[in-house]
Amino acid sequence: MAEAVTKRRFTPEAGCPRCTHLDTARRRAVTTRDRSAETDARVLIRAHMNSAHGTVLEADWT
Ligand SMILES: [Zn+2]
Repeated sequence: MAEAVTKRRFTPEAGCPRCTHLDTARRRAVTTRDRSAETDARVLIRAHMNSAHGTVLEADWT
């Protein structure tokens, strides 16, 4: 079994529309200071990176 890669920093995977979409949503939430939308985006990004890219983001990833 491949070992999961753990990262502290989220970088959208090149060519992955879901990454791009979620990253945009998170940036917009930060800009508008919408904390609940930011939290939602973080949860979705973390789950997506894990399931789609085999990357585990640390709890306090940026
Ligand atoms: Zn992706």
